[in-house]
Amino acid sequence: MTDRYSEETFFKDVKTQEYTPFYTNNLTSYSPNVSYHYNPKVCQYHYGVRHPMKPFRLMLTDNLVIGYKLYEKMDLYLPEPASKEQLQDFHTDEYIKFLEQVTPDNASKFSEQLQKFNIGDDCPVFDGFYDYSALYAGSSLDATQKLIQGTSDIAINWSGGLHHAKKSMPSGFCYVNDIVLSILNLLRHHPRVLYIDIDLHHGDGVQEAFYTTDRVMTVSFHKYNGLFFPGTGNLDEVGIGKGKHFSLNVPLNDGIDDESYVRLFKAVMEPVITSFQPTAIVQQCGADSLGHDRLGTFNLNIKGHGECVKFIRSFGIPLLMLGGGGYTPRNVSRLWCHETSVMTDVTLDPKLPDVLPFRNYFNPDCSLYPNLGDLLDNKNSRKFLENVKAKVLEQLRNLKGAPSVQMNEIPPDFNKLTPEEERELDEFNEREEQLMREMKDSARNGELME
Ligand SMILES: [Zn+2]
Repeated sequence: MTDRYSEETFFKDVKTQEYTPFYTNNLTSYSPNVSYHYNPKVCQYHYGVRHPMKPFRLMLTDNLVIGYKLYEKMDLYLPEPASKEQLQDFHTDEYIKFLEQVTPDNASKFSEQLQKFNIGDDCPVFDGFYDYSALYAGSSLDATQKLIQGTSDIAINWSGGLHHAKKSMPSGFCYVNDIVLSILNLLRHHPRVLYIDIDLHHGDGVQEAFYTTDRVMTVSFHKYNGLFFPGTGNLDEVGIGKGKHFSLNVPLNDGIDDESYVRLFKAVMEPVITSFQPTAIVQQCGADSLGHDRLGTFNLNIKGHGECVKFIRSFGIPLLMLGGGGYTPRNVSRLWCHETSVMTDVTLDPKLPDVLPFRNYFNPDCSLYPNLGDLLDNKNSRKFLENVKAKVLEQLRNLKGAPSVQMNEIPPDFNKLTPEEERELDEFNEREEQLMREMKDSARNGELME
């Protein structure tokens, strides 16, 4: 009975000698097919000892998911790395070729390109970084494929969600943008795709890729003060040309708590979904918006963050669930295990299973739900939040219902702009490049602080 790989979903509590369930079924009316896409090789890479991005957080997540026996509730897939051609679906051939060729040993020969492609402290060259990128992207594409085929209603890849990567440049620890690649694939079969981003940072790479189309609506909730990485994501970034009103940004201040965040999230997302009527949703679940994150400044708890994804699940629309940022590995893994349970409609025992590799990592409480909401003052006054909500809802009123789209309008076709819109886009890109240059030092302070 105590064998965690037995058919039983119970474990023996050592102290009470009672058998306790790992999870209990919630049995709500919606029972989607859920799939879990994970290649364990992805957690074996290292950005460097001092770098805050730790791929081993994915191993901790998988340990918890397996420890709680959630594999009983999902189809499990071992995805292949993305091919070079698949990566070039969004990224330039030159950039992908560069990622493939450069290694820590030969990097000195590429000094000109290292500068050109913005390789540095945030996005270093590390051993196998091309393979690492191909692995997380391959898992997102595998999950996307299952949604397209209809074999999954919800497909999960916690190793994906790297939302900062640009067409020919890495950014904010992201080398290839698996989200953009996934959405491009969804657009071949779905008229409208909604992208939701609840990472601490603005989902700039995804917003930029779809800034001129009405087929993808991007909505990002994030910290914004004009200086915090990546510097973009203010209320006035709404899209250009056909894409005008199809980018939505919800800028927030430090210390936001569960109650304010969840209330605002639901107040915005309900009308977004009813007016845009997406046929597929991509949800980025960055864990750096949790309290106590090494790079974080919010006060969210695991269940608060999870309430947002639970709300999105309740619409019953095909859903791709991705990871993202998150720099306190034990809490990242707690969050993504909890959100796996939300997707599979079960309630987990808050006490971690007794038999769990790295259980000591979760000391002293060994709980799935530690209090993470007690660190910072909430700098989001009621008045500030009401004002943000009013402005976002005002933007939404411009939507005027779901656009009917030409399915053949996939990139690069949807980038057809009038000369005036071209100028607007050039100005936007110029402003963004300027920001990138200015951010280069402050980003390092923000993202790489100890
Ligand atoms: Zn982030």
